[in-house]
Amino acid sequence: MTLSLYNTLSRKKEPLTPLDPKNVRMYVCGPTVYDRPHIGNARSVVVYDVLYRLLAHVYGKDCVTYVRNITDVDDKINAAAKQNNEPISALTSRVEGWFHDDMKALNCLDPNREPHATAHIAQMIAMIEKLIAHGNAYVSQGHALFAVDSYKNYGELSGRKLDELVAGARVEVEAYKKHPGDFVLWKPADAGDDPSSVFDSPWGKGRPGWHIECSAMSGEYLGENFDIHGGGADLMFPHHENEIAQSRCASPGSQFARTWVHNGFLTVNGEKMSKSLGNFITVKDLLDKGVKGEVIRLALLMTKYNEPLDWSEKLLNDAKKMLDGWYRELKNWGIEELKKKNDFPISSIPHFLNSLLDDLNLPKAISLMHSASPQELHAMGNLLGLLQQPPESWFKGDGGGDGDIQAQIDARIAAKKAKNWAEADRIRKALAGAGILLEDRPDGTTDWRRA
Ligand code: AMP
Ligand code: ZN
Repeated sequence: MTLSLYNTLSRKKEPLTPLDPKNVRMYVCGPTVYDRPHIGNARSVVVYDVLYRLLAHVYGKDCVTYVRNITDVDDKINAAAKQNNEPISALTSRVEGWFHDDMKALNCLDPNREPHATAHIAQMIAMIEKLIAHGNAYVSQGHALFAVDSYKNYGELSGRKLDELVAGARVEVEAYKKHPGDFVLWKPADAGDDPSSVFDSPWGKGRPGWHIECSAMSGEYLGENFDIHGGGADLMFPHHENEIAQSRCASPGSQFARTWVHNGFLTVNGEKMSKSLGNFITVKDLLDKGVKGEVIRLALLMTKYNEPLDWSEKLLNDAKKMLDGWYRELKNWGIEELKKKNDFPISSIPHFLNSLLDDLNLPKAISLMHSASPQELHAMGNLLGLLQQPPESWFKGDGGGDGDIQAQIDARIAAKKAKNWAEADRIRKALAGAGILLEDRPDGTTDWRRA
């Protein structure tokens, strides 16, 4: 059972050969907690959640360490807290709570560790000190900066060349930079900054740059060399390029992450969904509209993970229809059988497993679910974080009012018995108007589900 992944660094699909199969290590860039996650952010989380589940399946649950950070110190956070006129800690803890709630609604598992940047400032400072001592960084006007021309492989991940960076520097280069591509490791605090975003350092009071946060936290929990580093395609340059430069230069001879995985953008009308463009839909917006988390999850998984996914209403409708069909099969199969559920070995559905092992080919894996037996379906869903709720709760939801609905159904049955078809029809329509669909059974009973 070998997992192959497309490695952005080598530009090839490669079999994963973990440094230690008893501890397969993955780091994924987590959220900057200043606003509610949108579905583009969710795509990244859901994709790596499936990869995590697959790694756990292949190597064993206790043999995988998945680290996803929380960026809780950042210029965007300072700006948002100022705009809301609230302390930074109030903003970051609220948004982190939202992030957790929304990702749980999408059936995402918790990572093994979720380090906060603000709790790892000492490790960041130690790393910057090493970079300065090694001649890879310098201090200028209260900033510590990484000198990109001190690292000869700079640009290896993204394929960008240093001279292109010079030519591409559109804005005037800050006076404290020796090279336009140099990036900030530490920046000085501004007067009036919230004290909780200001930290002491050998270079004065300030805060770390974003890139050094991930280098320090991955190093702390996964070591100098680890197996997989993931994130969205937008992070390849400069964020991941800079992580590589910092981490390798701080620990000469280290490789840092061996396999680099990048999920594609979620787009709207071909344009990347982002906060700055204002074309975003939050996970919460959809949940509040009554879209089930599982529907959003499947919609995010139906496109190859590293290709662009253009978001549409149709995508959600397709996902909903698929799940309705699968849950119907599970329902017809019977709840007692379902209770025996997870003892069905996924190894007995090799074509399904093999498509996932082949660079996470989810569209293929999902297409195989259409011809699966209920038992297979349940096991497949278990690996993908789908189809694990009782069919009853899928169809009826936990919207409450079930007693009232049953009373209406009983009234309709009575009306039908009395041949009062108009009344029976009225009740059916009234229920449909409230999103309750009735299904008459051949044995005379009536079942219902939420639309
Ligand atoms: P941020 O909070 O903006 O730093 O993003 C958190 C994660 O979401 C990163 O891994 C980003 O690459 C990812 N991400 C942001 N926008 C999108 C998008 N439109 N499509 C896919 N991934 C995204
Ligand atoms: Zn990162």
